[in-house]
Amino acid sequence: MTEQDGARQIIMKTSIQIGKVMGIPIKIHISFLLVLVVFPIALSMENIDNVFGFSYVESIPLRYGLALALTILLFSCVLLHELGHSWVAQRYGIVIRSITLIVLGGIAAMEEVPRDPRAEMRISIAGPAVSLAIGVFCCMTYLILNSIPQTPVLHHVTHLVWSLSFLNIILFVFNLIPAFPMDGGRVLRAWYAKRMPYLQATRKAVHVGKMLAVVMGVFGLLASIWLILIALFVYIGASEEEKFTEVSVTLEGIRVGDLMTRDLVHVPGTMTISELLRLMFERKYLGYPVIDQYSKSLIGIVTFTDIREVPMNMHDSTLVQDVMTADVITITEDADAIDALKMISTHNVGQLLVERGGITVGIISRTDLMRSIAVLGYSEG
Ligand SMILES: [Zn+2]
Repeated sequence: MTEQDGARQIIMKTSIQIGKVMGIPIKIHISFLLVLVVFPIALSMENIDNVFGFSYVESIPLRYGLALALTILLFSCVLLHELGHSWVAQRYGIVIRSITLIVLGGIAAMEEVPRDPRAEMRISIAGPAVSLAIGVFCCMTYLILNSIPQTPVLHHVTHLVWSLSFLNIILFVFNLIPAFPMDGGRVLRAWYAKRMPYLQATRKAVHVGKMLAVVMGVFGLLASIWLILIALFVYIGASEEEKFTEVSVTLEGIRVGDLMTRDLVHVPGTMTISELLRLMFERKYLGYPVIDQYSKSLIGIVTFTDIREVPMNMHDSTLVQDVMTADVITITEDADAIDALKMISTHNVGQLLVERGGITVGIISRTDLMRSIAVLGYSEG
């Protein structure tokens, strides 16, 4: 999988870095610790088909030990899959901020989604290609090991190699399902994007993914709960991708400076809430940069949300500097509007201060961005 939207960035915050490969920080999400418990148990279960896993091993500690080894090897293969995407992406000059391992697999956080269909196609195929290569390599190793006389230890190793081969082939097939958020969805979009505009290509690919999800869901009702869960995962993933693309395509070429409010009203930190409310009624802005009364330097930002919590009878005695958000996030005037939206979601704030050469020149809010997406999206049809 390759993801980059705002919601996923929350995942990045609850992750621990374990190393660096090709200059990319490799991280493990806290949910991954669950994998180290659940996977070995699942791989040791009696009722799992004897195709892969270690239910056949008599000794319980050995059984779990082998299952844990398989789990760690499997996730190393997931990491190699993500590195496959990243390696090709780097060839196209795309910066990979990190690779994070989570319960469902890996996420390579890219700075931007490649709009060039050839690049997107190659980057998307690289991951599954790595999985296939590992699968084939392990399968050949298995065939060689299986042909020599088996000792008990060798037998376990042989079975481990076989299981790894089997799981990598599953990874390969699963990722090529032509639906977002799987790599196959991106391959399909890239295929369409060679023939039509990007947004239209995304919509087509999303449509195919959703239909596939519905078909899987119906089969799931007859066959297994797992298929229903995968169908749900695919359906949600497809919708998210459509939304993200719609927003980023709509805001394409639009700069922060085009949407920001320029006519800034600064307020001193020593202003009371009552005074600020009066100003808000007058000026009709919801966010105000707060400056130090004497030095005139910026000390925070205050919005309607900050003062909503203050009880009415405290309005005269509470100062703006007591309730303001001191942690001000700034963006430059010529930054892309889509980056402003990303920053607002990542930091979970209502607005950003806009600066030019270190001087505050405006303010841009979530509402400003949402309003323009609605207007521009509408006019585009
Ligand atoms: Zn992938």
